[in-house]
Parts: sequence; C-alpha cells; structure tokens
Amino acid sequence: MTTLLPTTTAGSLPKPAWLAEPGTLWSPWKLEGEALIAGKRDALRLAVDDQRRAGIDIVGDGEQTRQHFVTTFVEHLDGVDFAKRETVRIRNRYDASVPTVVGAVSRPKSVFVDDARYLRSQTDGPIKWTLPGPMTMIDTLYDAHYRSREKLAWEFALILNQEARELEAAGVDIVQFDEPAFNVFFDEANDWGIATLERAAQGLTAETAVHICYGYGIKANTDWKKTLGQEWRQYEQTFPNLQRSTIDILSLECQNSRVPMDLIELVRGKKVMVGAIDVATDIVETPQQVADTLRKALEFVDADKLYPATNCGMAPLARDIAHGKLKALGAGAAIVRAELSS
Ligand SMILES: [Zn+2]
Repeated sequence: MTTLLPTTTAGSLPKPAWLAEPGTLWSPWKLEGEALIAGKRDALRLAVDDQRRAGIDIVGDGEQTRQHFVTTFVEHLDGVDFAKRETVRIRNRYDASVPTVVGAVSRPKSVFVDDARYLRSQTDGPIKWTLPGPMTMIDTLYDAHYRSREKLAWEFALILNQEARELEAAGVDIVQFDEPAFNVFFDEANDWGIATLERAAQGLTAETAVHICYGYGIKANTDWKKTLGQEWRQYEQTFPNLQRSTIDILSLECQNSRVPMDLIELVRGKKVMVGAIDVATDIVETPQQVADTLRKALEFVDADKLYPATNCGMAPLARDIAHGKLKALGAGAAIVRAELSS
C-alpha cells in the first residue's frame, strides 16, 4: 500500500431500502431471481461510490451481496441442511435457529468470486473481500455429522482456502476473515482456531486480514459488553499467537471501546486496522475524534502499518449515519496523514 494510513471499513454498509429492509440485520431480500442479481450489483456500485466519495482507500462491496456474514457463504456449500434447524447459543451470547451439518461439507462452486470480479471492475484501487473465519462458521451451525468443532473447522478452512485463492485470482488485494469467535473461545482459538485460520489463508499472495470485534451494535452485544468490566482485555488472550501467525493484518475495535490501546503493542510488526468509528451508536464521530484515536494508536503501531477503519460492520445503521461515519473516517485519517507528512 503506497498511501500512508489507507482507510477501509470492517466490511458491511447499510443496504438500499429497495434491496432489503433498512435498520435491521440479516433482513431478507426484497427482490428475486434476475432482479436480485441486478439489484445486488447496483447496490454494490452505490457502496463503492459512497466509499470513494468519503475518501476510503481500500474499498469493499459493503457486503451488499450477502444477507448474513456467515450463512450466505454456508448456503452455497454441500453437507449443510438449511431446512433442518436447531437452536444453538452463538458465541455464548444469544440463541439462534441455525442450519445443521448433515454430511461431509464441500464447496461445489465458488461463492463470491463473480461478485468480487464485479467489484474489481468498479475501481482501480485496492479492494478487500470478507469471508467468515473457520471458528466463527462452526459456531453458527449445528453439527450432526463431524461431532467435533475442531474437525469441522479444519474442513471449513480447506473450503475457505479454495474460495480465497479464487478471490485472489479475481483481483482481490486483501482477503479478510471475520473471527469474532476469537474474542470468546480463547482456549480453542489458541489450540486450533488460529491454526485453522492460517490454513484458510495458506498459499495466498494477496494480503490476509483477521477481523476480531465485539460485534454489531445489536442488543445482545451491547448487553454482553456491559458484563465485560471496565477494561476489555480479551485481545490479550490471542494476540501473542496472532503476532506469530502468518496473517498479515489484524482488524480491531478501538473507538469508544474499553479495549486498552496498549494491547496493540502485543502484535507489533503486524499491520493493524484500527477501529476509529463506533458502530454501536448513531452519534457520528467528528474527524477530530477519529484523528485522536489514530494518534493514540500510533504509540503502538508503526505509521506505515496503521489502517484506519471502523470497529465492525455498519449494516444495521441508517444510511445517512453510515455515510457520515465514512466521511469522518476519511477526514480524520487525512488530518493525521497531513501531520505525519509535515
Ligand atoms: Zn465485526
């Protein structure tokens, strides 16, 4: 990346009202068939345009192509029965009705590669594509076949690696794996979670990122955050092993969070996507607030490795608020970039 402090988002942006119900997560599509395919592409172009206008350097699809960051990927796999549902506790936090793994999992054809190719055609700048991580995938399913979280995670790692390699061939510069489960299941993350993530990223020449957050601004997450105490030290559990891992970039939640900023020191040497936009509030940050967060982060990450970003996805926010936050991110990064260059 030649730009200093290249800005990016964690991934999702609100969808247009004609594509899916605004203000809610995982809302169903309002279109079908060919109209849905065309609608997703139109929404992707708008998301790219919004990011470009806001000065976002590493552009994503705003996740306009998926309903849910895990299940939309899983829908395309064999071995998972979406009609057979079980209620499970997701990330030890909330119950959800999820599909069941009923046989060997495999990926009969690519999932997001056409969409990524379309994104590639919309910009000459760097692009990032998000995939779920293996541990977060297994935590969002009921497994009636492997009966082993670790075994299923390794299977998903192989499938994710196939998809990631095709995304890279389609011109994706950064493949990001979302692993919020790393902030909950520390022992599993260290025993095999980080290893399966590395397997998912194996052999890629594109850069790889892992996004570890405290979730969207939904009630189950904000209630959970209230139980975490004054200091959120969850990252401390996995950062030492992530620092030694093959993953290039870590995406973290820093804005308005109780994560002590000095925990970033634990991954010194890695690139860090510093969350400088809070997605759990409708209050739009000022560029100065964003700049303050970035300046604090610069104590623990070298300037050439700092990527200003959002804490998490902005899918559930109103569009005008998300736009405001994108602009604040771009403008805040510009302030610090100017300070570093002078
Ligand atoms: Zn997130």
